[in-house]
Formats: sequence, structure tokens, C-alpha cells
Amino acid sequence: MIEKRDFYINGQWVAPATARDHQVIDPSTEEPCAVISLGSAEDADRAVAAARAAFPAWMATDPAERIALVEKFLAIYERRKDEMAQAISMEMGAPIDMASASQWGAGYSHTKNFLAAAKEFQFVRPLGDHAPNDRIIYEAVGVCALITPWNWPMNQVTLKVIAALIAGCTMVLKPSEESPLNALLFAEMMDEAGIPAGVFNLVNGDGAGVGSALSGHPEVDMVSFTGSTRAGVAISQNAAATLKKVHLELGGKGANVIFADADDKAVKRGVLHMMNNSGQSCNAPSRMLVQRERYDAAVEEAAAVANGITVGPASEPGRHIGPVVNASQFDKIQNLIETGMKEGARLVAGGPGRPEGLNRGFFVRPTVFADANNQMTIAREEIFGPVLTIMPFDTEEEAIQIANDTPYGLTNYVQTSDGARANRLARQLRSGMVEMNGQPRGAGSPFGGMKASGNGREGGVWGLEDFLEVKAVSGWTADA
Ligand code: NAD
Repeated sequence: MIEKRDFYINGQWVAPATARDHQVIDPSTEEPCAVISLGSAEDADRAVAAARAAFPAWMATDPAERIALVEKFLAIYERRKDEMAQAISMEMGAPIDMASASQWGAGYSHTKNFLAAAKEFQFVRPLGDHAPNDRIIYEAVGVCALITPWNWPMNQVTLKVIAALIAGCTMVLKPSEESPLNALLFAEMMDEAGIPAGVFNLVNGDGAGVGSALSGHPEVDMVSFTGSTRAGVAISQNAAATLKKVHLELGGKGANVIFADADDKAVKRGVLHMMNNSGQSCNAPSRMLVQRERYDAAVEEAAAVANGITVGPASEPGRHIGPVVNASQFDKIQNLIETGMKEGARLVAGGPGRPEGLNRGFFVRPTVFADANNQMTIAREEIFGPVLTIMPFDTEEEAIQIANDTPYGLTNYVQTSDGARANRLARQLRSGMVEMNGQPRGAGSPFGGMKASGNGREGGVWGLEDFLEVKAVSGWTADA
């Protein structure tokens, strides 16, 4: 059993103020795989004090110095790839090959993209020719609380920590208590890279404890949070009294609009995307909207694709999907599958219970519902499991109306060979991102949502700007 009870505060590994053990459960076996500590407000205070003390010197460093340290970190992150992939795989259930390629890979590419953006970023820039003595200074926001979930853990940790570091912020990371091991490894890497004491701190804990101690802390200037809409609301309320900057990346209920003229792979691509990471992605295309002419064939194809997906333990190599993260997610997904059946959606693949041959572990059958309507619970709630909901539409207007009829607004998807129509939809879909015809967003593209999916953008230049204040200066001496 792995035992990692200490926190990383002010460049040291330190014991929690009060011992409170927490078992990390391997979702493939339902057995404990590690023990960590859940911290308290006192631990949060110590970490925030360290970050506050380190802030003035770190903020004043030349960006080139911060960039060089992040480059050192990246080399360590590459060297320790296998360890990282194994930690992620064991604690949150991503199959090992996927954990290595996509989960580890997301952290790698975000860090690279931030480095590229930072090298081009003008931290001090002119306002314009009309105001030769004005300058706009991009300055670190201050002490940041970074609160992350378990589903794409290194993705979220790097999107926050690396951007905050380059911006000149100091920080306290509180990773999810479901997946703390990868973040503890990450802290080891920060230490090895020589990030100065107090700049990066890590305290483990739950939302009610360390999470709310940080989001209400008077010495924290900004909270950057990724997780559920429920927690996003609680954090915003808690942060309001001290007027913190609050960045939220929350849930989603993406529509994947497939027109009759979409390419042959559109349906298969949509199902596989939905089931990837066992459906535990905020940008999952969970509502498949198919134009009537193609609807019956699409339902049949989607069921066949889902039936062809294998489910198995995270430690096994291969292209299967793993378990969902924990018992409460498993129960929630099972309930939603039952609700879908009760509300009259047609089950065409999967269904309640575990896949055949698996009687332990939080394994869910890849499930597809057809003939749903957009008012059903399975079309409204984020399921966060391998469950796809398909519904028909007739016209472009109707597709847009259904797609936008959701509290969320993270990513929508469009499949059509009509370029003008694709562009019309890209403009009319109310979401932070629109991905069309299977083309992934490019390196450094901003990630984030509208409505109940949150605010702010992560990644690339926009991700750096999120951790920067804009300071307007007049009377600047040009050559001083
Ligand atoms: P969660 O909101 O329960 O937990 C996320 C993190 O917030 C954890 O570290 C948790 O300890 C902490 N937390 C919980 N309640 C808190 C509170 N009141 N105050 C402060 N911190 C609190 O969510 P989860 O179950 O870990 O993750 C799943 C959810 O996250 C899904 O809804 C998913 O869509 C969303 N998500 C969104 C994105 C995105 O980028 N938009 C990315 C990943 C996950």
C-alpha cells in the first residue's frame, strides 16, 4: 500500500496539522491502493502563508526565468512518464495505454503550448501609436487556489499550475481526493525542477474542508476551479465575500449534430468520443442529434459500435475502456440509466448492471439510448459515464434549438459536408467551443464554456491571460 500522508508546503514535505487518513480506492478492484491525508483549514493557512510570502519575489522574476524553470519541469515530466501514467491509471481507472497516451499526454502538450505562448507573450506592450507614453502591463494576479477534479487530472493540473507559474503567480493546489497520487508526483517534479520554495504548494483535502478554506481565504486573490457545477456555485458564493477573481470550468451536455450529408465515419466517431475515458469528460458529445433521413441507420450503427467496445481493468494494456471513478459515480450512472428506461427512451445497447464477466469494480456497460427527447433526464443531466442519448431532428433550425436548449455551453459538435451550414452552426451554437467534422482544436486553442459550463478560458495565450491582471500606465519613459 502506498502511503503519502505529507503535503508540499514552502518547498518541504510536511505532516498535516491534524492526522486524518483517507484511503484512495482503485476503481478496477474496489480495493484501497493508497493512503493520503485530508488536510484542514490550518494546513490551508500554512500553504497560503507560504504562497503569500513567496509572491513578491516570484512576481518580479523575469518571465524568461520562469519559462526556463517550466522547461526543466517538462524534461522531468517526460522522464517520469510511466510513473505518472501508472498513478493516474490506478487511482481513477483510465486504461494504462490511454493513461500514458492521452492523460499524461494532455499535461505534456498543455505545458508545451504554454511555453510557446509565453515566449511570444508581451508582458509589457504599447497601447498604440496615438499614445506613445502609455503601456499596458500584464501582471500576476497574486496567490491562487487551484482546485482540480479526478477525470483528466494532469490535464487540469497543468492547465492551472503551469499557466499560473508563467504568469508569476504563487499557488496552492488542492487536487481531487479521488486522484491525489498523480498530483503528489507532480509536486515531486516541481521540487526537482527547482521551483522556489512557497511558489507551488500542495495540500490534499476534500471540498468541504481544504476546498472551502481556500475559496474563502482572505489571502487568496483568485480561485481557479474545475469540477461540478454544484461545487462551482458553492465556491463562487464562498469567494464573493472577499471579491476574489473566480475562474470556473464546469460540466457540459454537448450536442453532436449529425446532418444527413455527414461523412461515413461521423456516427462511429461520435460514439467512440462519447465512450472515451468511460464517458467522464466534461466535453463529451453526450447528446447525438441525427437528421431524420439518416436516423434509423445511425441508431443501428451507434448500437453496434457501443456493443463492440470492451470494458476491463485499467491495468490491462489495450484499447478497452476502464471503470468509472468510484461507487457514487457508478450508482449515479446506474440510476440515470434506469431513469432513461422509465422515461421511455429506447435502450439499444448496454443497460443497467456490470458488463458480462465483471462482478467487481465500477464497470459500466457502454449504453446507448435512442428515441429520446431533449426534456428527458438523460438529455438534461450530465451523466459522466459511458451513456449516449440519441434523438432525431428535421431541420437546421430545430437542431440549433435543441442543441442550445440546455443549461450548459461547453462544446458542441457538427457533422456536415456543407461548409456554409457548418459555419452557420459554429456561430449559432451557444458554447465556448464548436468542433466540426472530427477536426480537433489546434494547439493552444482556448478551452472553456458559457452558461452553467463556467467562465474564463484555459490553455495557450488565453490561459496565461487568465492569471494576469491588466495594468494601464501613462507617462511611461520609453528608453528608461
Ligand atoms: P467535484 O466538483 O465534486 O470536485 C472537483 C474538485 O472540487 C475536487 O477537488 C473537490 O474536492 C473540490 N470540491 C468539491 N466541493 C467543493 C467545495 N464546496 N468547495 C471547494 N472545493 C470543492 O467534481 P468531480 O466529481 O471531482 O468532477 C466531475 C465534474 O467536473 C463533472 O461535473 C465534470 O463535468 C466537471 N468537469 C469539468 C471540466 C471542465 O473543464 N469544464 C473538466 C473536468 C471535469
